[in-house]
Amino acid sequence: MNLLPAFQCHRPATLEEAVRLKAASASARFVGGGTDLLVNLRRGLGDPAALIDLTAVADLATIRRDGDELWLGAAVTLAGLARHPEVLAAYPALAEAALAVAGPTHREAATLGGNLCQDTRCIFYNQSEWWRQANGYCRKYEGDKCHVVLKNDRCYATYHGDIAPVLMVLCADCVVFGPDGVRRLNIAGLYREIGSDHLTLAPGEVLAAVVLPPAPKGRRAGYAKVRIRDAIDFPLAGVAAALTRDGDVIGELKVAITGSNSAPLAIATDVLSGRAWNDETAPILAQSLRKQASVLRTTVVGASYRRRVMQAVARRLVDTLWQQD
Ligand code: FAD
Ligand code: SF4
Repeated sequence: MNLLPAFQCHRPATLEEAVRLKAASASARFVGGGTDLLVNLRRGLGDPAALIDLTAVADLATIRRDGDELWLGAAVTLAGLARHPEVLAAYPALAEAALAVAGPTHREAATLGGNLCQDTRCIFYNQSEWWRQANGYCRKYEGDKCHVVLKNDRCYATYHGDIAPVLMVLCADCVVFGPDGVRRLNIAGLYREIGSDHLTLAPGEVLAAVVLPPAPKGRRAGYAKVRIRDAIDFPLAGVAAALTRDGDVIGELKVAITGSNSAPLAIATDVLSGRAWNDETAPILAQSLRKQASVLRTTVVGASYRRRVMQAVARRLVDTLWQQD
């Protein structure tokens, strides 16, 4: 690891000031807890003139109710999210996912916004400067070729955030603040399938909040992941699911995954509505996962294991939700 590069550190008190500081310096970066960004900077992945610390921005670290919606500020810590009474009562799957991120000390500093906006990962990218230089760099940073997909049309680095898929199955929106004002979009709209440019945020825009709609009666939701070190690790495969039973059949099933593509991915499950969950229908979900997930050699663990374990984790999670009272 390198020493951190020299940068100025700003601590704005308002979102307007944060956005103004960003507009003043093209290379400036927003920072929440720094648990993703600072590690990358110490690997020589970026050389920002300034960091704009969002943790002192008024109201950004609060959770508040607005009518029947729950608004989560982007600077709320994952530890704070996981112990918030309203989150635990109405959206326990979100608390579950927050508790599955990294280790306890990370979660005290790591923010919701930083988790959603974390960088994509690849074995050819998350390496020291000298390692990447010895390998001729790659097109995500400082180079021009991809070592994972040789046709080299884009970067295929993988998104490994734990929270986004849960927010997707809970139908959450996010609120983005920028030089042109405020916009609200669904969580999937925050991402695109390009490993080197996976966020749809325009230059200078900041993620301000996540908005949860009321939880429908009878919905059960959960999150499950597989990782190398159970105490502290990114998901090799992460699956979120939300299920509403309609008597003996599925009313609605939503599934979203992480650790496979350059963006978290919603899986098509419409064909399962109106059918029971059993040994006949479970393979239909596995087939959708096989078709849509595009797992590549971006981690030290082989792609075929990640593909297969994704299907096993999804099956086990939906089994559990199906059997819940
Ligand atoms: P930061 O590092 O502060 O920021 C991350 C990125 O988001 C930066 O590019 C920053 O510019 C941008 N950003 C931050 N806030 C905003 C905002 N409001 N608007 C726009 N851009 C913003 N992550 C997981 O999901 N699961 C894991 O299991 C996991 N394991 C980890 C294990 C280790 C050992 C380490 C070092 C990290 C791990 N992480 C994991 C990554 C990281 O800790 C988490 O994703 C964390 O939630 C990031 O939040 P942060 O506030 O620290 O982000
Ligand atoms: Fe680099 Fe290719 Fe990995 Fe992207 S997928 S980080 S371009 S090696």
